[in-house]
Amino acid sequence: MRGVLFYSDMFTSLYMHIPFCTSRCGYCDFNTYAGVNSLIPQYVNALCREVIILSTIDNKPKTVHTIYFGGGTPSLISFEDIQKVISTIRNEYDVIPDVYVDFTISFSDPQFWNISTAGTSVIVTSSNIASQVSVGYDNNGVIIYNTASGYYAFDRTCPNCYKNSGLSIAVEIGDLDIYAVCPECKTTYVLPSSGTPTADGPGEYILKNYHTAESAYGVRVWNR
Ligand code: SF4
Repeated sequence: MRGVLFYSDMFTSLYMHIPFCTSRCGYCDFNTYAGVNSLIPQYVNALCREVIILSTIDNKPKTVHTIYFGGGTPSLISFEDIQKVISTIRNEYDVIPDVYVDFTISFSDPQFWNISTAGTSVIVTSSNIASQVSVGYDNNGVIIYNTASGYYAFDRTCPNCYKNSGLSIAVEIGDLDIYAVCPECKTTYVLPSSGTPTADGPGEYILKNYHTAESAYGVRVWNR
């Protein structure tokens, strides 16, 4: 049984499968087991070993944007075991900030009128939207970019500064709306290319990407 899965070619999302349940539900197709909770410590150790082994696969990205625990019933494992798994991931991968994000901007809101034009970007912070939700890591904000064929959304936190210096620095939209620039490390990120850093700067990691969905009302941005 595999405990860990990769999801993307651009960056890595890790799914941690916790295959334990208190009892088996008849309709359930998930790979889960009841009555074997005594195996949890061994399983957690095996999960950590699998994380380490998979991290050595050269053609997989080393930047983790999302860590998801599923099952089964993940709450059956202890907080200490979850910490153990996350510590292992942090030791083997470059984990950039992850916070819950889910908000919608309205096309009828004058703050966002420009975003309906292809090739334009807009910065959204918690002061721009009515609901008091976090808008990106450390409330640095989210950049939404109109690609003409859909919208991209990026966390403004510079992944290069976060990884290398532990700093929470918000990137700014550059002279052209297609670039975002970090005022600290000077990395330039290309928004139409999924927030990939240009080769002439120090940055190694792409901006954290969020899901987007366009409707007649506006653009929803979320990550879970
Ligand atoms: S994963 Fe959920 S639905 Fe499936 S057996 Fe466990 S508790 Fe039941």
